[in-house]
Amino acid sequence: MTGADLERMFRDDDALMSILISDTAAPGRVGLITRLGFYESMTGRLGFGWLLNATRKVAALASWDPLTMPHDTPLDTVSTVVLERPKDARDHDLVISWPDGSFGTVSVSSIFERLAMEYGYEATHDRLTGLPNRVLLLDRLSVLLQHAERVGSLVAVVFCDLDGFKRINDSLGHEVGDRLLAKVARRFGSTVRSQDTLARISGDEFVVVCEIGSPHAPVQVAERLIASLAAPIIVKGHQVRITTSVGITVTHGTATDPEELVREADLAMYRAKTDRRGGFEIFDAAMHARAVERLTVEQELGPAMGRDEFRLFYQPLVGAADRRLVAFEALVRWQLPTGRMRAPVEFIDIAEDCGFITTLGAWVLGEACRQLAEWRVRGAGDFRVGVNVSARQFSDPGLLAYVASMVEACNLGPGALVLEITESNLMQHVETSMATLTALRRLGVVISVDDFGTGYSSLAYLAKIPLDSVKIDKSFVTDLESNHTSRMLASTVISLAHNLGVRSVGEGVENENQLAILMEMGCDLVQGYLIGRPHPPEQVEQTWFPGTARPSPDDRTS
Ligand code: C2E
Ligand code: MG
Ligand code: MG
Repeated sequence: MTGADLERMFRDDDALMSILISDTAAPGRVGLITRLGFYESMTGRLGFGWLLNATRKVAALASWDPLTMPHDTPLDTVSTVVLERPKDARDHDLVISWPDGSFGTVSVSSIFERLAMEYGYEATHDRLTGLPNRVLLLDRLSVLLQHAERVGSLVAVVFCDLDGFKRINDSLGHEVGDRLLAKVARRFGSTVRSQDTLARISGDEFVVVCEIGSPHAPVQVAERLIASLAAPIIVKGHQVRITTSVGITVTHGTATDPEELVREADLAMYRAKTDRRGGFEIFDAAMHARAVERLTVEQELGPAMGRDEFRLFYQPLVGAADRRLVAFEALVRWQLPTGRMRAPVEFIDIAEDCGFITTLGAWVLGEACRQLAEWRVRGAGDFRVGVNVSARQFSDPGLLAYVASMVEACNLGPGALVLEITESNLMQHVETSMATLTALRRLGVVISVDDFGTGYSSLAYLAKIPLDSVKIDKSFVTDLESNHTSRMLASTVISLAHNLGVRSVGEGVENENQLAILMEMGCDLVQGYLIGRPHPPEQVEQTWFPGTARPSPDDRTS
């Protein structure tokens, strides 16, 4: 293989991001030629471009006593350049070619010496635990992958994230937190084989990479890691109990790059954490598909807003006894260019995670206020409109000013706008919530607690909040007829609401029987398919106030 081949390797194989060079005489000393660095050298002024261990200009390294070797010296594998170094000579050089056919060389031994000097222990190890850090982990992982590809073995990446570590850190202090991490590192270390790599890649995240014989082996690794934390850890006189959630991914060969593998294991860990803390989960194709889908949705959100693809549907809330219209809940939909409506479950959480919810939520609020004002002008009635507010939106310092401007622009009187906040969101940041809620109240905006019964409310806190209503979670209503516990919970929520002096709303009412049970319990308002499904504005108008005429385009813009 020649220097020109090196160039061809990068050009032909676009999955190849870097070529590893390692010093077999001194394990752990590694250098990488990255794709970026290589091409930089092609276009570049600096001769040899970049050679990275993290980010390092190779020109500086190469100027050190470069030796030459014939440009057709064989390089031994496609993506690994492992250069043996004879004891006494620094005569193995890497050849880099330019498009004009000329060659440059760089002395490998000089690179290693320089790397060792500049990227010594500090750069590759975590100071707190003494474990390899992310940089070294990724290097070792890529070496392992190359090897696995050659010999046909499997490589497992096992990702551990401690459960509730932040809470311990916050309550017992950082010093205890640090010592705990060091002890956890030792416990984990005792479970892995000497040839495996255990690394701490950030805060409370540890990763094990190992070569394995069977796809079941990593499960045992995970179980050993979990079990190693079973006994409490004593830190500065505190008995700390901690668990870890673990994600596993298994691969053979180099099809997936090291960073991607760590991401996969991280994703599986995340699943483990949401399902049941202290357990493990294995990354699978479905998880991958979901991750890709998530990413696609995330990237489409902004453009979709630009193309005006979001719609608001409205679902009625009526008096349980008289079925008189009291409010509409605005529910967002995403109309794809194909015409299909994406339901909020498909994108709200994603928008929340990536921060787009602030933009989307502002649009929803604005559009719902505008629609309500339009209906009011047309004499449709004095019902309210409810808008769902997500956690991130609720803690956004800009929310108040925005709501205030909407209420004023649309001339909405007190009580016209209802913000629905889920119980769990409300309880997340109790102190800040209180201030926001009080300020909203002053603007004449009322608050409804959504999905009530699924979170963990503090009653003392609930009593202080300026609330308008409490919505019983749909799951209890669904099970009213069949499940005693659900019936009891629904009834408890209703009396609780009454004791707090607020109204109770039964959500997801689908049949007369459920309605009858709720009425008997004294439920004030109901919402659900029995009364009406969420519909676009035109359909809502036909059903609920057919007499009112649509405004002419002139009215609308005024
Ligand atoms: P939610 O606020 O609890 O809304 C009620 C959900 O229950 C709606 O689902 C509604 O269509 C559905 N539903 C109502 N009646 C029935 C019934 O009788 N049977 C059944 N099976 N379902 C019923 P949707 O529209 O899919 O919305 C789901 C969730 O997405 C909402 O739950 C809300 O949390 C969120 N969401 C919707 N729009 C927005 C929005 O604009 N902003 C934010 N932040 N979240 C939104
Ligand atoms: Mg709601
Ligand atoms: Mg709800």
